Amino acid sequence: MRRQRSLKIVATLGPASSTYETIKALFEAGADVFRLNMSHGSHEDIRTKHQIIRDIERDLGRPIGILADLQGPKLRCGVFANDTEDLAEGQDFRFDLDGTLGDAKRVNLPHKEIFAALEPNTTLLVNDGKIRLKVNECGPDFANCTVQVGGEISNRKGVNVPDVVLPVAALSEKDKADLEFACSLGVDWLALSFVQRPEDVTEARELADGRASLISKIEKPTAVENFDSILEVSDGIMVARGDLGVELPVYAVPPIQKRLIRACRAVGKPVIVATQMMESMIESPVPTRAEVSDVATAIYEGADAVMLSAESAMGDYAVEAVTTMDNVAKEVEGDPNYIKVIAASRTRSSATIPEAITLAAREIAETTDIKAICCFTESGSTAVLVSREKAMVPIIALTPNVGTARRLTLVWGLHTVVTNEVSRFKLAVVSAARAARRYKFAAEDDKIVVIAGVPFNTAGSTNILRVAPVDEKLIFASEAE
Ligand code: PGA
Ligand code: MN
Repeated sequence: MRRQRSLKIVATLGPASSTYETIKALFEAGADVFRLNMSHGSHEDIRTKHQIIRDIERDLGRPIGILADLQGPKLRCGVFANDTEDLAEGQDFRFDLDGTLGDAKRVNLPHKEIFAALEPNTTLLVNDGKIRLKVNECGPDFANCTVQVGGEISNRKGVNVPDVVLPVAALSEKDKADLEFACSLGVDWLALSFVQRPEDVTEARELADGRASLISKIEKPTAVENFDSILEVSDGIMVARGDLGVELPVYAVPPIQKRLIRACRAVGKPVIVATQMMESMIESPVPTRAEVSDVATAIYEGADAVMLSAESAMGDYAVEAVTTMDNVAKEVEGDPNYIKVIAASRTRSSATIPEAITLAAREIAETTDIKAICCFTESGSTAVLVSREKAMVPIIALTPNVGTARRLTLVWGLHTVVTNEVSRFKLAVVSAARAARRYKFAAEDDKIVVIAGVPFNTAGSTNILRVAPVDEKLIFASEAE
């Protein structure tokens, strides 16, 4: 099985997608990576879904990526005596540390650190930003506010404090327990919510200890400000437009999306565009024109992946949402203008030998009729460099390391294949040619490009490029070892 596109699709699993049959159908429709949301569901539930994905992987013989999304320091208010209250514009409302049930005048906000960080005039947002309050007066255990935009507030609604760098740990005790659990299951990626500073990522990296790669979710204004330093210590980025559009005006999000994608492409780290991409498909079998256009835009910008949240987790048309994204990707990638747009936004690679080799591979692909670029990769870094060039031919990433093969399923254009260890370049060419034929990237009289680092098993040693025939007799007849 192979995809007919370079874009990758991430599908969040939830109640609408929890059985073997549904998850398999999502994979077959085009989901390359599954997101397990640690904010919902017990560890047992997560373990079951993880096992189902691994069973499907085994049954279909293709690597599948798994991303565990940690909840992070998401703030929530307490509970109301009447479950819900209506806040009217202009009225006073108080948040405090008092654990008793809330009413129309006050509610518990069980986060001591928040009160310490608030100042008069700070904005508080409740319920996905629908309610807006301004702090008038505050102390170590309370904040008296005025409602600026009213609406319904109810039990445990999310509270956002966009203007302030919150003195809260990036990883709560729950997050640490979830991280350990997810790593022990063997997930490939961890997504960190509400990252504010690079230290938040390095803390998670110490705990993950090489067991999973890290995606920083950019969903706070402070993360946008500190983006360069966060990117430097992350393995990938998610443009988390849901919370970002609450913490900032929604119209601030598209330019940020563009900037983040460009920065990620420049350094060759995968970037996911997330949230509300096919939102109407939660209830409708067809997307809106605007949604199709939004997915297309992310593809033209060069995103590695687009993500489904509620559409695949709780929607009525989970499989159709994946199919729609798959179709949009095929259409955009077939547009001659797409190649031009991608080429125009490409940044120069730096002057290292691996980058020179991957650039040469792209140039050969652009000027000749080779059918695929095949690369041997241990840690995945060579494959990521190849992907970064965005050549308009398929890329086959061959690795003896199943963890690498799974992790790379998130990366633009990579068709990952687990191979045996190879010790000689000629055997590497043979196994690349076999993979190209087996997955129907090339036929008997076609040619491929093979790149590798020789001697094998030394990271970052990419130093060889060969244009090779796919026909094995011809490979063996060629003179080079
Ligand atoms: P979430 O993150 O779905 O975990 O909230 C994505 C976003 O905020 O866009
Ligand atoms: Mn979020």
